[in-house]
Amino acid sequence: MKEGVLRGKVALVTGASRGIGRAVAVRLAVMGAFVCINYKTNERAAAETLDVITRSGGKGDLAPFDVADGAVVRSVTGAIIRERGSLDILVNNAGVTLNTLFVRTGDEEWNALMDTNLRGTFNCCRAALRSMQRRRWGRIVNMVSVVAEGGNPGQACYSASKAGVLGLTRSLAAEVGSRNICVNAVSPGFIETDMTADLDEKSRSMILRKIPLGRTGLPEDVAGVVGFLVSPDADYITGQVIRVNGGLYM
Ligand code: NAP
Repeated sequence: MKEGVLRGKVALVTGASRGIGRAVAVRLAVMGAFVCINYKTNERAAAETLDVITRSGGKGDLAPFDVADGAVVRSVTGAIIRERGSLDILVNNAGVTLNTLFVRTGDEEWNALMDTNLRGTFNCCRAALRSMQRRRWGRIVNMVSVVAEGGNPGQACYSASKAGVLGLTRSLAAEVGSRNICVNAVSPGFIETDMTADLDEKSRSMILRKIPLGRTGLPEDVAGVVGFLVSPDADYITGQVIRVNGGLYM
């Protein structure tokens, strides 16, 4: 990791109170970015993320909002741009999962899932692009999932939301590349976070058997790849999906 390469950049990481988002926020701060730590409700956890950042000499601030609410996203990102001068890096990480048989999925569950995972990504990209297009520089990383490409029983709706984000990533990359804005997706496999903590032992060991590297992933495994994608080393990478899954899906 190259410390300091993001000095002067302002980053927004959604869902940065816990799990992968927290590790990404810490990584970008170590790389020198000012990091806006978004979360929905868990202020205590978000404050812990900020604490980790400031204790290691980084800079950041809390940015609570629901990514599903377009008006609030516009107003908070507008305030960040006014206060800090720009919004250069956006990591759309906030996400929820849904593990239900397809035929049992209710309209409300579908809507809530799509509102956070797909609409939330749309809302944040649209709001951040105003500053990025003006400055002719921007890096967007969208968090998808191994199931967006590989599928999984009981996760048809979650897969659909992440496959939607993957499609958005590629088309947006094609649309804004001429403004020097790179848009990529990172696709984690099984990562140890609150999202996967409830899985029973039987399912966990079944998944483990399918991972060639023989271990589950850590949030830091994903954060390192996000850090690379927003660094100068990745200036010629756009429209790609980088899989971080220990070989679970190739
Ligand atoms: P997590 O531990 O459950 O954390 C979810 C984060 O998203 C929290 O910070 C939460 O904020 C935030 N969030 C949820 N809904 C939000 C909303 N509407 N607005 C703003 N923030 C919201 O999840 P994770 O495992 O780190 O997953 C992070 C991303 O990676 C997700 O997009 C997930 O789909 C994807 N992913 C995870 C795995 C895995 O194995 N863990 C695998 C593939 C993909 P609060 O703390 O305030 O609730």
